[in-house]
Amino acid sequence: MHCPFCSAQDTKVIDSRLVGEGHQIRRRRTCIACNERFTTFETAELVMPRVVKTDGTREPFNEDKLRNGLIRALEKRPVSVEEAEQLINRIKSELRATGEREVSSQLIGNLMMESLRKLDQVAYVRFASVYRSFEDIKEFGEAIANLNITGVNPKS
Ligand SMILES: [Zn+2]
Repeated sequence: MHCPFCSAQDTKVIDSRLVGEGHQIRRRRTCIACNERFTTFETAELVMPRVVKTDGTREPFNEDKLRNGLIRALEKRPVSVEEAEQLINRIKSELRATGEREVSSQLIGNLMMESLRKLDQVAYVRFASVYRSFEDIKEFGEAIANLNITGVNPKS
């Protein structure tokens, strides 16, 4: 790729390593013309199934949307960015593994809740309360009752 500093066409890879559980390659590059160094990330582009929303409309799978929901749920929780990225990668793998060309938004939400339940229970409840909107307060009570949480008061 062209140097982002001087646009020269020749850049040299000086280091590459696997990151993100091997889903990504990080390369350190140096420009042969201006000697500036920069980093590039390489990931496989894999086709994700399209998402069927509850109202029946379709939209492309949106990883950022998933990540934003996750970040919101994990706010101030002791979970690293790396762990959150791993969770996203796992959900993407599971969605691809269905072999379906379309998956329901509900399936994605459920996979997310399942993974979060294992990762961080407070984040799980936060995500679930937003995702399900907990129209049925009884359902929310049951979700809380099934957890063993400190720091979350179901009455608040
Ligand atoms: Zn350059």
